[in-house]
Order: sequence, then structure tokens, then C-alpha cells
Amino acid sequence: MAVPGRQVSVPRSRPGAPLGTAVDQARLGAALTRLAGTPAERLLARPELPAGEALAARGLPARTIDGFLRPLLAALLCDPDLTTSSRCADLALRAFARGRLCLPEGGADALPELLARTLPPGTVHTGVRVTSVSTTSVTTAEHGEIRCRAVLVATGARAAAELLPGLRVPEFHPVTVVHHTTDEPPGTGASLLLDADLGGPVAHTAVVSQVDPTRAPAGRALVSSTVLGRSAGDVDTAVRMHLARLYGVSTARWETLAVHRTVEAVPAMRPPHDLRRPVRLIAGLYVCGDHRDTSTVQGALHSGHRASAAILTDLGAGRSMHVADPVPTVPRAA
Ligand SMILES: Cc1cc2nc3c(=O)[nH]c(=O)nc-3n(C[C@H](O)[C@H](O)[C@H](O)COP(=O)(O)OP(=O)(O)OC[C@H]3O[C@@H](n4cnc5c(N)ncnc54)[C@H](O)[C@@H]3O)c2cc1C
Repeated sequence: MAVPGRQVSVPRSRPGAPLGTAVDQARLGAALTRLAGTPAERLLARPELPAGEALAARGLPARTIDGFLRPLLAALLCDPDLTTSSRCADLALRAFARGRLCLPEGGADALPELLARTLPPGTVHTGVRVTSVSTTSVTTAEHGEIRCRAVLVATGARAAAELLPGLRVPEFHPVTVVHHTTDEPPGTGASLLLDADLGGPVAHTAVVSQVDPTRAPAGRALVSSTVLGRSAGDVDTAVRMHLARLYGVSTARWETLAVHRTVEAVPAMRPPHDLRRPVRLIAGLYVCGDHRDTSTVQGALHSGHRASAAILTDLGAGRSMHVADPVPTVPRAA
């Protein structure tokens, strides 16, 4: 399926800052090209260390590692301390080297909406809260019990463990995203700025409206900035001050649109990390999500694919599985 996405240019460590000498850049380019062509299985067979330790053994100059690879990996993994498994870090870097960075046009909801549109009308019901599951039924807060032949729990790790007691709940990396608008966009084009100098709370920032204008209020620029780790206190002021230095413009008149703090944003993937956690619990009960694979959209999709394959095998079913039953209506308590 083609997902409309807009590409973000190769990150820069600071406006105008070169990534080391021309030789350094050539070595980095060659290393990324090699990584892009390495089969995933080969990366998964490498020794597994915390990513920060493994970087030192890559044979690249310290300025390339500290000025580019560390902040890039921190951004890709939402892990400022790079405690993530080096195998997962290699996979993330390989995905970057193969496809660069992109944003789904219209926002993060675009991908699930496109997937849902390929199904017969009425197959997907949103806004329904599940309170318990079994191999033959799902109980919902709004529509009572729905009978079924199999249940796939596709929530985040904590909600999955509430519905399926005994499931492991991992540690998480917290992420805060701050959105500003301005009618005077800084002139960085569609680049993602990485802060290699750790000169403030922002790990990376971009003028997102340069990549996808549909995300911004009409006629204004949208600047989205990410703070990794726990953010406390007046994060907006600290972020504005840092952005003023990163973009080299005054941010005093920028308007704050939103500050989203997600404490359990991304499941931690410390070594040893199992990239293929079981998705079939027992016949009739399945689980998928980023906590069963890598902590990314791709990981969530891979685990969903594994789980749906297990369900089809257990049910002995072919491809004609789509049945759009109406969700029963249960009167709400006043
Ligand atoms: C700020 C932020 C930035 C990120 N950036 C990136 C990125 O750039 N690239 C990337 O690959 N990943 C990124 N991620 C991670 C990515 O969003 C997740 O890995 C991915 O969304 C996981 O998908 P999932 O299907 O496992 O879970 P989710 O996307 O969390 O979906 C689970 C769904 O289950 C629903 N649910 C929960 N409980 C119930 C219940 N009881 N009944 C019914 N429904 C329920 C929830 O409402 C939710 O819709 C980011 C995450 C955050 C928070």
C-alpha cells in the first residue's frame, strides 16, 4: 500500500555546521551505504551491547559519532542515554540509511486510516473501550459483550497487560513534543535539526509545515520539537530559549499550540531484547503491538502481521475472513 509521506532532508547537527571534514562525511556516507545493504539477519547475529557502547567500535571518528550518530540514534530510538540494544539500534540506522526520514501526510493517524479504508465498510469501530477478553468474547464498556472466534489485543503494553494478566510490562522512554506556530518561519527548509551539543532540552526539531503544510494552521508555520526523557516544570520556556539558539531567530513571539507529555511513549529495548515475542498466547487469544517486536510503527505492524497469520492458521481460514457484524447497542448508564 502506498502511504503518502513527505521526506525530511538528512538531519544536520546545527544550522550550517558541517558533519566533520569532507573525508569524515565520505566515510559516514560509505558506512551508511554498507549498512543499508546489510541483511537484517546479519545485523541480528552481531554481539548485543548497549547502543552507546557499540558505537565506539564502529571505526568512525569521534566527531562523526558524537556530532551525528549519537543524536540521530537518540532521536530514532527516543533514548537519550542509548541504553537500547545495539541490534535494535543497527536496525533503526539501517532503516534510516535505506529510506531516510519521512512524515505521513496529514498526521500520524493517516496510516491506520488508510489501512482501515481497505476493509469492508463497518469492519472497524473506534471509540469502543474493551474491559475484558476471553478466547470467545470481548466485553466492552459501551456495547456489552461481543461473541467471537478469536481475540487479538492490539493495544500498548500496559493496556495489554491489564486485559491479559501475566503479560510483561516493559520500562518506557518518556517523550514530550512541543508545537509552536509562527508567521515568520526560520529558514531551514525541510531539515530536521539535531542538537549534538546538548545545549538545552530539545533533542530534535523541524519546521514541519515545510514538509507537510496540512499540519499547520492556515498561513502559518508549524515548528515541532521533541524533548526526550522526563520533562519537568516550565518545559515551554526552556524549549523556546533552546529553539532561539538552534534556529538563530527570536522565538519570543511564537505561539505555543500544544505541549504533549507521554510518560509511557516508547517501550525500552535494553539488551538482551527479544524482537519476536510470542503473539499467540493460546488458541483463540493473541497479542500484538510495538511491545512484541521493535518499539516502532514498523515493529507494531510486523507483530500484527505475525499475529494475524497465527489466527488464520488456527482458524484454518483462507483470505475470506472479513465479516462486518454490527456492534450491539447497549444503553449507557446515565
Ligand atoms: C511522541 C511519540 C513519537 C513517536 N515517534 C515515532 C516515530 O517517529 N517513528 C516510529 O516508528 N514510532 C514512533 N513512536 C512510537 C509509535 O507511535 C508506537 O511504537 C506505535 O504507535 C505503536 O503502535 P501500537 O499499535 O503497538 O500501539 P498504539 O499506537 O499505542 O495503539 C494502541 C491503541 O489501543 C487503544 N486501546 C488501549 N486500550 C484500549 C482498550 N481497553 N480498549 C480499546 N482500545 C484500547 C489505544 O487507544 C490505541 O489507539 C512515537 C511515539 C510517541 C508517543
